[in-house]
Amino acid sequence: MLPGMSRVDSLPRPAAVWHRVRALADSALDAWLPRACALCEGPLRQAGAGLCGHCRLALPGRNRARCPRCALGLDAAGCAACAGHAFAFQASRVLADYAPPLDRLIGAVKFDRQLGLAHALGRELRRGLAPALRAALGAGADAAVVAVPLSAERLRERGFDQAAVLARALADGLGLPLLPALTRARATQAQSRLDLAARSRNLQDAFRPRALHPRLPARVVLVDDVITTGATADAAARALIAAGARRVIVAAVARTP
Ligand SMILES: [Zn+2]
Ligand SMILES: [Zn+2]
Repeated sequence: MLPGMSRVDSLPRPAAVWHRVRALADSALDAWLPRACALCEGPLRQAGAGLCGHCRLALPGRNRARCPRCALGLDAAGCAACAGHAFAFQASRVLADYAPPLDRLIGAVKFDRQLGLAHALGRELRRGLAPALRAALGAGADAAVVAVPLSAERLRERGFDQAAVLARALADGLGLPLLPALTRARATQAQSRLDLAARSRNLQDAFRPRALHPRLPARVVLVDDVITTGATADAAARALIAAGARRVIVAAVARTP
């Protein structure tokens, strides 16, 4: 410090301080984030990515034409899911199909309780879907992110809620609040062997809105790991609409083809 200068005078300008703090924070985060691709375990060039460039480009169904409403792959006849069902949500965006090798990764998060992989998928979701979700939400400040909640029983089994981890990453990427707007009122029976109509019956009243202060915004991004038939997202979207949401956009890692 030069003679005659106080300690405060010797500090750099606020912008320079902010820049230095950000650089320090970024390098700390960089050191903490995994350096291996969640799928092939190859090195990651980019800090904050969950997958390497090669695996990202090879995600199943990454470039297929999808129904804008429910994200099912479109065939010549249009969307087979939306033909027989009016979903409560207005739009859906996914990264890929629920197919190898992505299904293995999502299974490891759910059934092997791999929290690190959940964070890696969250980073991919944020990287891959934030621009499309911003476009689907439209302009305005009245928006929030909500995760499809697990039942208390499943949360106890797993130790963490994978949809909440994904939703946190997406909320940060979109600059929106993550709100605990839903509760899962009861553990629903396993859905995997049920068709859409049976799933919808199974899920009736499964989700309850939670009172929020301030109220739930009009536009909501609803986050889950996988869209299977759309019945879960549909039931959760109905609860959000009952709580005052007017536009619900579903975001998920994968859609069952
Ligand atoms: Zn890879
Ligand atoms: Zn559809």
